Amino acid sequence: MKPLIAGNWKMNGLAADARALAEDLKASSQAAGPACELLVCPPFLHVPLVAEILGGSSIHVGGQDCHATASGAHTGDTSGAMLRDLGCSHVILGHSERRADHGESDALIRAKAEAALAAGLVPIVCVGETAGERSSGQALTVIARQLKGSVPVGMAAERLVVAYEPVWAIGTGDTATPGDVAEVHNEIRRVLAGLVGEGSDQVRILYGGSVKPENAAELLAQSNVGGALVGGASLKPQDFLAIAASCP
Ligand code: PEP
Repeated sequence: MKPLIAGNWKMNGLAADARALAEDLKASSQAAGPACELLVCPPFLHVPLVAEILGGSSIHVGGQDCHATASGAHTGDTSGAMLRDLGCSHVILGHSERRADHGESDALIRAKAEAALAAGLVPIVCVGETAGERSSGQALTVIARQLKGSVPVGMAAERLVVAYEPVWAIGTGDTATPGDVAEVHNEIRRVLAGLVGEGSDQVRILYGGSVKPENAAELLAQSNVGGALVGGASLKPQDFLAIAASCP
């Protein structure tokens, strides 16, 4: 399976910025023809515009979150079906910024993943330890607990993406060492074998946390790394495509 390079645009950019970024990506990616799949996850309000620009290209569009139910009285929320309807293929769930800013629990993230699957989306379930959890030697335990709590039970392996994002590496410029990344990704693979069973070796496990063109090749070469979830560098088309070009 090709690696997946996913861009998380977070809450950045007005419509004109989203348009320029999508148009630039579309034009440049055609020339580059990367050996990986590309996905961009714009803010909800820019999804229709970006999906329209990228329609007909090989770049997928995804959401940054969705609600745990299909519809109803949930002011300000967005359902998986709404994202799918606009052309999204994936949705990021349980990003550490949502866990922290919105108090999202593993159980809620699992419910959201189930709703996303029902809507025909591929959930990208994010897990990762804080600096304190790492320094106290709990990183692997925390990650296993998050996986067991947030991945839907018995789901089909080919419809799941997991992202390992150490909280202390997101947006800080600090990156996990290649050795730490390999250790965590190997552990995620081991835990997934018990959760999704057959085909668990097919689940793409992305690394996220200050990935940039300078460190991408080494990170992407590690054991069980099936791509990257990219924040800041995904707002610069040339950097995002340089990361994609680093895929082994
Ligand atoms: C992210 O927010 O998913 C992320 C990895 O951000 P950054 O690349 O900026 O660290």
